[in-house]
Amino acid sequence: MSLQEIREKVAKQESACGRVPGATTLIAVSKMQPNERVQAILDEGHRVFGENRVQEAASKWPAFRERYDGIELHLIGPLQTNKARQAMELAQAIHTLDRPKLAGTIARLAQEMGACPDLFVQVNTGEEPQKAGVLPAAADGFIKEARALDLPVRGLMCIPPVDEEPALHFALLAKIGARNGLTGLSMGMSSDFERAIALGATHIRVGSAIFGERAPA
Ligand SMILES: *Cc1c(COP(=O)(O)O)cnc(C)c1O
Repeated sequence: MSLQEIREKVAKQESACGRVPGATTLIAVSKMQPNERVQAILDEGHRVFGENRVQEAASKWPAFRERYDGIELHLIGPLQTNKARQAMELAQAIHTLDRPKLAGTIARLAQEMGACPDLFVQVNTGEEPQKAGVLPAAADGFIKEARALDLPVRGLMCIPPVDEEPALHFALLAKIGARNGLTGLSMGMSSDFERAIALGATHIRVGSAIFGERAPA
């Protein structure tokens, strides 16, 4: 699909679901994509991108930033505390705040740097042992903890289990967000972003549908 086609699908779904036009931010997930493809999307005027790894983001985006204004980078992959500073320097949003130690580190660095990216708390809605994120039952407490550290928590993020209906997970995330007064919902990828929009997504993370298949890791 082209970027234009995805944008049209997003707009169509927003309107079909009674959402405000433009309520959904399309994050183009550029991880493991060749620079030519990323540049083509930049040349089409898109400015919001997602990367999984701090290392890869650091090797790719400073050069693009020199040539294109207004780039907004979202870190959507797991974050180690020893990479937090670099992540905060590179990204305007981090979607994977998932544990007290990381919250503490980001809070300390935010004080020191005088700035902090927007934060999303990752919730492990499927309660999968191998997956990052706070468990649904622990989410309210963790959000409270992060707010007590003055962290700019804007919303929640989830990655549903591959073999389950994602809508159930999107609905759960929306429910946790609503009861905590959080308006941001980072949910929906190439295969399910329309369902996510129907359930209130404010940020969809779309990679392969825009860029084509990724090079193998
Ligand atoms: C890779 C990735 C995406 C994009 O996945 P696609 O299926 O290519 O759209 C979205 N979110 C996260 C967290 C990812 O790691």
